[in-house]
Amino acid sequence: MPINKGIVLASRPAPLSKATPENFRLVESASPEPGPGQVLVRNTYLSLDPYMRGRMEETKSYVASQPLLEVMGGGTVGEVVASNNPSFKPGDKIVGMGGWQLYSLDDGQALRKIEPGKIPIQAWLGPLGMPGVTAWAGVKRIIAPKAVETLVVSAATGAVGSVVGQLAKAAGARAVGIAGGPEKCAYAVKELGFDACVDHRAENFDALLAGALPRGIDGLFENVGGRCFDLCSRHFNDFGRVALCGLIASYEGKEPSSLRDLSLILVKRLKIQGFIVSDDMSLWPQAMMELGGLIAGGKLHWRESVAEGIESAPAAFLGMFEGKNFGKQLVKLV
Ligand code: NDP
Repeated sequence: MPINKGIVLASRPAPLSKATPENFRLVESASPEPGPGQVLVRNTYLSLDPYMRGRMEETKSYVASQPLLEVMGGGTVGEVVASNNPSFKPGDKIVGMGGWQLYSLDDGQALRKIEPGKIPIQAWLGPLGMPGVTAWAGVKRIIAPKAVETLVVSAATGAVGSVVGQLAKAAGARAVGIAGGPEKCAYAVKELGFDACVDHRAENFDALLAGALPRGIDGLFENVGGRCFDLCSRHFNDFGRVALCGLIASYEGKEPSSLRDLSLILVKRLKIQGFIVSDDMSLWPQAMMELGGLIAGGKLHWRESVAEGIESAPAAFLGMFEGKNFGKQLVKLV
């Protein structure tokens, strides 16, 4: 019987402070046998996502807290290896929530069959999965950029941000990214087609940002918060829209995210909407159809940071909060 390896949450980090490798522990057990109606999946790739940091704490949020000493939850793609469920058979490729482990059991409710064809299977965890749909929902349903407008996105080369910029360009808007370091900024412009990308680590970030925004900001897709949001907020045009997607700079208490002056919203008649990708599941089929069409047509580009082996998951995950990932952070499990 194959050995299952997984990563459990061994302890909780203090609220809004840095999580450490000691918060995680590797556990081994025999791979489970599927019971009645169950499917056994061998997970191929694990998705690492910033929301998991919030789950490590006990604070009440839009996702339930991760139980201590249980395998960390997370999105996976994989292959059915045994099935007692008539809807699935061995060999089926699936996307699900297998968690940080090599093998997972599922009753089939949360599994979706996929047909990778020419698209690599792990794309269902990136541009064709939760991050892609997040980008689509914020750009299409909240910001809805017009051709003459400027859309700014922070964490611009990441899983969500890279799709945001390309959707903005496809709508004819000016796309301006904010990313950490010259290499990421060059990639955003040269490979993803952004009109400009500003390095938030640069000493003169403030001035560089102003220079990239000759016509101000009509749409802000906020992934970071903290100083990024603060500086962007000085450039809003009247009737600007903010898709408030994430505040990663605040998740570990590094930078507080706050709006100092509500009069800004009034004077500029801004619309600021926080949203969670699972708020409206009825959007997913259309989003995935459009994203799939762009991918098949070679019009949507992305990159991946792939950590090898389940043992590498904690370090890869913690690295996301320091910008160590360059593109969608995955763990290759097989
Ligand atoms: P990314 O692939 O963008 O990885 C995270 C990136 O955030 C890092 O690479 C780094 O990029 C940037 N970052 C981290 N810390 C800081 C900091 N202190 N200051 C500035 N930038 C920082 O992750 P995702 O695309 O998966 O997620 C992006 C955001 O979207 C997150 O806030 C996440 O929580 C949110 N999200 C929200 C969803 C929703 O439903 N609302 C769904 C999915 C994601 P760089 O090096 O460029 O700074």
